[in-house]
Amino acid sequence: MSEHVSLTQLENRDDFIQRHIGPDVAEQQHMLATLGATSLDDLIKQTVPENILLADDLSLGEPQTEVATLAWLKQIASQNKINKSYIGLGYYPTHTPNVILRNVLENPGWYTAYTPYQPEIAQGRLQSLLNYQQMVIDLTGLEIANASLLDEATAAAEAMAFAKRTSKNKKSNLFFIANDVHPQTINVVVTRAELFGFDVVVAPADEVLQHDVFGALFQYPNTQGDIYPLEKLIEHVANSKGLTTLATDLLALTQLKTPAELGADVAIGSAQRLGVPMCYGGPHAAFFATKDKFKRSLPGRIIGVSKDKRGNLALRMALQTREQHIRREKANSNICTAQVLLANMAAFYAVYHGPKGLDRIAKRIERLTSLFATGLAHKGIEIKNQHWFDTLTFVSEQRAQVIARAEKAGVNLRTDIEGVLAVSFDETKTASDVAELFDIVFGEGHGLDVSALDKLVCSQSKSGLPADYVRSSDYLTHPVFNTHHSETEMLRYIKSLENKDLSLNHSMISLGSCTMKLNATAEMIPVTWPEFAELHPFAPVSQAQGYQRMIRQLSDWLVEITGYDAISMQPNSGAQGEYAGLLAIRKYHESRGDHHRNICLIPSSAHGTNPASAQMAGMKVVVVACDQKGNIDLADLRSKAQELAENLSCIMITYPSTHGVYEQTIREICDIVHQYGGQVYMDGANMNAQVGVTSPGFIGSDVSHLNLHKTFCIPHGGGGPGMGPIGVKEHLAPFLPNHPVVQIDQLDVANGAVSAAPWGSAGILPISWVYIALMGASGLRKATQVAILSANYMAKKLAEHYPILYTGQNGRVAHECIIDLRPLKASSGISEMDVAKRLMDYGFHAPTMSFPVAGTLMVEPTESEPLCEVERFIEAMIAIRKEIDQVEKGVWPLDDNPLVNAPHTLVDITEAGWNRAYSIELAVFPSEQARANKFWPTVNRIDDVYGDRNLICSCPSVESYAE
Ligand SMILES: *Cc1c(COP(=O)(O)O)cnc(C)c1O
Repeated sequence: MSEHVSLTQLENRDDFIQRHIGPDVAEQQHMLATLGATSLDDLIKQTVPENILLADDLSLGEPQTEVATLAWLKQIASQNKINKSYIGLGYYPTHTPNVILRNVLENPGWYTAYTPYQPEIAQGRLQSLLNYQQMVIDLTGLEIANASLLDEATAAAEAMAFAKRTSKNKKSNLFFIANDVHPQTINVVVTRAELFGFDVVVAPADEVLQHDVFGALFQYPNTQGDIYPLEKLIEHVANSKGLTTLATDLLALTQLKTPAELGADVAIGSAQRLGVPMCYGGPHAAFFATKDKFKRSLPGRIIGVSKDKRGNLALRMALQTREQHIRREKANSNICTAQVLLANMAAFYAVYHGPKGLDRIAKRIERLTSLFATGLAHKGIEIKNQHWFDTLTFVSEQRAQVIARAEKAGVNLRTDIEGVLAVSFDETKTASDVAELFDIVFGEGHGLDVSALDKLVCSQSKSGLPADYVRSSDYLTHPVFNTHHSETEMLRYIKSLENKDLSLNHSMISLGSCTMKLNATAEMIPVTWPEFAELHPFAPVSQAQGYQRMIRQLSDWLVEITGYDAISMQPNSGAQGEYAGLLAIRKYHESRGDHHRNICLIPSSAHGTNPASAQMAGMKVVVVACDQKGNIDLADLRSKAQELAENLSCIMITYPSTHGVYEQTIREICDIVHQYGGQVYMDGANMNAQVGVTSPGFIGSDVSHLNLHKTFCIPHGGGGPGMGPIGVKEHLAPFLPNHPVVQIDQLDVANGAVSAAPWGSAGILPISWVYIALMGASGLRKATQVAILSANYMAKKLAEHYPILYTGQNGRVAHECIIDLRPLKASSGISEMDVAKRLMDYGFHAPTMSFPVAGTLMVEPTESEPLCEVERFIEAMIAIRKEIDQVEKGVWPLDDNPLVNAPHTLVDITEAGWNRAYSIELAVFPSEQARANKFWPTVNRIDDVYGDRNLICSCPSVESYAE
């Protein structure tokens, strides 16, 4: 040990790489030896087609330490200037209760979970999402709500599509949008309408009376803060058999008559101001509520109440079969990843404050607004609103001076409407902020006194709310919103739900196609830095230089990684990326006069979002066959491309394929499509098998989305948030989404937006930034290699016990592999579902079930899982195989064995008279690991069919739990 090493060597720049990657060098050697490969490079050569291997390292710089990276990012973040925001427009400063900040937003127990596909080990977040739905139902007065959508603007676009689906007015193709809806909402909806081929009128609200429409969108209160009668307009829409959607605000609805009372069919909006920081645009949860009769057409995920095997109440995602396949081209929408973590935060905010707390917060906001209004009126300033809740729009003759004074004071007003100024109040503002605003509007010496104004407003019992619109109905009456008001109880409530959920901080979640890798703490820390968390998305870009630098840097890195030329950060999920990418393709064709090109080829193995997005982009889907080996049938592709050449728009293809193999013919596939004038959309969900080894741009595709919440370490949050930026080749770059409020780069103003915020959920981009900075080129490449190594190791070990469905060259798989359980089901009666549930008894989350092939499990270990965990999973799968043997041999009857009864709960084993064909010990401690680190599912197997037949999507009464 007396060897002398240099200081640089002692510094160990690779420290993070070694922590991110689970297996150490010796373990990697062992795994390679098992596979018969001499090195990682050798394994890659055996696995990845030679003609797509990158010759050079990525140029991304050296790996960095955590300390250096966070210091670097802090310095960038400090270039953001956090002004006091009165901008409004759907984004408001809020106080995140600290107990929620630390125990939900900053807690891996909550943020590392996946979408609750396995409800028996997800009852915590399912409960919280049900609370969210209940809160939305209560505040909107409507009967059913979903568990979140991506943002307010896309929720409005979903509402338009929903109106078209459900409206009985089949002859109208017209959707009406009031021109006092938030501009970003109008823009996103109009963009979507164009693709669907709907006609749109954007005009003053009462002009709807002149039209026969299938749907209409109004905002209540409107974008300038006003509240006016809508019933006549809604009635007119109903008379023409159309549906009315109200974009609305949950805090305002604590004070105002509900959308249901006004006769609306749908209410949408953002739950951001319920404790979720603005984060320069997101992530936040949008909501969508409607009438019970439309429940089967609702977009997005819905949490429903069902029963478990014992007849006890249990929650799960309702209509999950629809959800898992997003019903391909018959889809209601393409929403897959939503905003679960943020919906949970908003729900907890409502639990924390309760109805009285929310009422007080809302009344206080209304009061601050009224005080400001009264001051303006005293000075003879013309206020544009008749009524208000939190927003005032007023005429200012000294507009320029006022804006200058505001800037000097570090205050942002809303300034985007000619001739007027607007301010929106929120729960963080105080009486002294109102006084400061008077100084800004009138200059010093205006003589207005806020407490005197308050006395006046009080004594005259003045309010901005229209008297006949004041809410009289109750809300949040369920005990869950009226119980946990001490911090001790709140903390324990959050923890009690967390305990019901299996997340990455318990064991591996090997969900194929989802890339559940490490979400390192260092990557998460910057998300809640105030420099990033507290910026309004429409703050002047000059105040957002930190964000702009970070986003530009991340874009440059992603350009390098993908081999593309430009990136758009706007899409908030993979599916939205698909939509944005197809939109760019469509506009590109149109720019060349090819308006007729509308056919999208999609292989039969594609993820359900692909055809759903194609349909949203106004394209016709033609399915391309796969051959027996799971690869695209080239002959079929060639003949279809040729036959449809005239109208061919593009192909959507996933690489490596959703079958978990690197297709040899990928370059040929791209060439064939290009030859017939089509574009290639490469679904980038499987980027974790490409980074540093190959790239979509290098392979020859034109556009891809990247699921930053898969490959680039954004945690899945229990089903969102996500980010789905798209990379494009140069020829598509002019067609990337722009934004109506904030101009992006040099893009054409005619390019519509796909999200409410210009850079999507910018607040979680630091996670991916930190990941790439920490890993550098060498670390990223190694991560890909080890992901492939782990998957192949697992495939090899499991192949002795289960058939591996598809392999590529040299019998290798990519970063995931499919275990075929169909033969075992035929021989034993045990299904993939039984195996999935039995894994819970062993302490594991099941792999992806029945995607992309029914009756299979798709396993993706990722590079982050240490070898010991990979081995434990393999052992569990082997032990389960032996259990299936016992059923096959008739040792256990098919209706009494540990597989069909899985998962086992504490109730099972404490109930008197255990008389099953197997022991309690085998039931709950089937392995050493299960004994040492037991995870208890809190309910027995859930009856999906019962829940779908009896769809209940609100909080059941406490008594019904006791039944
Ligand atoms: C995850 C995934 C998507 C959808 O991404 P979201 O972010 O959930 O919208 C699309 N395609 C494939 C292959 C995926 O695995």
